[in-house]
Amino acid sequence: TAKSSGRDQVCGYDRAMTEEASARFEMERGLRKALENAELELHYQPIIRVSNGRAIGVEALVRWRHPERGLIPPDRFIPLAEHSGLIVQVGHWVLNEACRQMAQWELEGVAPERVAVNLSPRQFVHLDVVELVRSALQKSGLSASKLELEITESALMTSAHQGEQTLHQLKGLGVGLVIDDFGTGYSSLAYLRRFPLDKLKIDKSFLAGVPERAEDNQLVTTILDLAANMRLNVVAEGVETDAQWRFLKERHCGACQGYLFSPALPAAELVAWLREQ
Ligand code: C2E
Ligand code: MG
Ligand code: MG
Ligand code: MG
Repeated sequence: TAKSSGRDQVCGYDRAMTEEASARFEMERGLRKALENAELELHYQPIIRVSNGRAIGVEALVRWRHPERGLIPPDRFIPLAEHSGLIVQVGHWVLNEACRQMAQWELEGVAPERVAVNLSPRQFVHLDVVELVRSALQKSGLSASKLELEITESALMTSAHQGEQTLHQLKGLGVGLVIDDFGTGYSSLAYLRRFPLDKLKIDKSFLAGVPERAEDNQLVTTILDLAANMRLNVVAEGVETDAQWRFLKERHCGACQGYLFSPALPAAELVAWLREQ
């Protein structure tokens, strides 16, 4: 009957909710342990100057080395960490580790020009974010000009006014400011112009259609023009083919990042890659 099937639906729904909640709970507990047991690690992807194919820096990308499940990519736990608030601790660890590693590389004389670190939306609006960055620089001894912070468009726009203030404070420390995944959010151009940004990264979903899809070609070209007009440097993400690289070269795109050059590598492999260049 309608009544009993209604009840079944409620039960099924509850069960699905419970399963999802407990899976989430398990993951959260695991991630807390991961922080305690040092199971997180940073991999580094070279960022390449389009004109000559040489590295101008690296982006730090977090991975979770799970004792049973192996290497877990960030898309599988960053959203959860964001949801539960654990991202603040994860982000704190990432920032300190990236600065520590970079300072260590400088001592060894093998450092890339700079390191970029991703800040999640929740981290970006966290009260202490400026203090955290300042302290990571101080503890590691890394100079601020060697550090870039990547913030997504949507994180900036959720609270544009507060975002603007935070950006100015971060800029005051001397770090570089980058807008990540550009084109996927809803930036107000008026704000973009006011924000003290250095660079924008074109989201990889736009590169995916280059050069086959006319619309994507047009879009990437438009973003490159926009960036040039706003005096912003550009990194095109997700460059996988020679044709995409050539396309960017012809349009004087400054930098790019993608599997054509290298995926994100563990620290030691990154150093070997940089040496071989
Ligand atoms: P993102 O910051 O936009 O990083 C670029 C992502 O694209 C990375 O994925 C990178 O491995 C991937 N990628 C690079 N080249 C190519 C390519 O040629 N083709 C394709 N298909 N993909 C490419 P990853 O490492 O899995 O990270 C995914 C996202 O997770 C990042 O996107 C970032 O939003 C987030 N994330 C990673 N590490 C951190 C972190 O330490 N903190 C925070 N808050 N978020 C992080
Ligand atoms: Mg990024
Ligand atoms: Mg991106
Ligand atoms: Mg992303």
